Amino acid sequence: MPKVTVATDWLDVCAGCHMSLLDMDEHLIELLSKIEITSSPITDLKEPPEEGVDVGILTGAVSDTHQRRVARRMRERCKILVAIGDCAAMNGIPTMRNDLTPDDVLTRGYVETESTVDGKIPKSREIARLLPQSMPVHEVVKVDVNLPGCPPSAESIYFVLKELLEGRIPTLSGEYLKYD
Ligand code: SF4
Repeated sequence: MPKVTVATDWLDVCAGCHMSLLDMDEHLIELLSKIEITSSPITDLKEPPEEGVDVGILTGAVSDTHQRRVARRMRERCKILVAIGDCAAMNGIPTMRNDLTPDDVLTRGYVETESTVDGKIPKSREIARLLPQSMPVHEVVKVDVNLPGCPPSAESIYFVLKELLEGRIPTLSGEYLKYD
């Protein structure tokens, strides 16, 4: 039987959700007999293949134009999209910047920090632009499964992947559902 293909990517994040994925430890070995991870930020291949994957996983909120492109690309290339972590599922930590304008955020980060001398905001067409507001993934593309938690436990991620392997959209409750 062909393996289920899985691609992951990250947006406006710390790496905690991907670390939780790795924390599955021996479950990861077990899963790898049934799934193939085609790409992820922590493997050599970073972008989901053009031919698509069965399951796409996104961590992090959508805060700039690059992250919005990455979220849309994953949606286009996967059959089932899973948003993992508070940031991806409900905006999490990046929500803190939503009371400020993008200019305020950049000025604080590049000019006003106490350790900065003669700072300036970098400007280049190569650099993604901050969106007016940071938002959870489901406000940009359709999400099939939201798994909150900061980060969600390795057991929760394992549960979600096992359910998907069984052909079910996971129903999250009890120990698998945490809002941190
Ligand atoms: S949900 Fe928590 S652990 Fe995951 S990316 Fe956001 S801040 Fe990091």
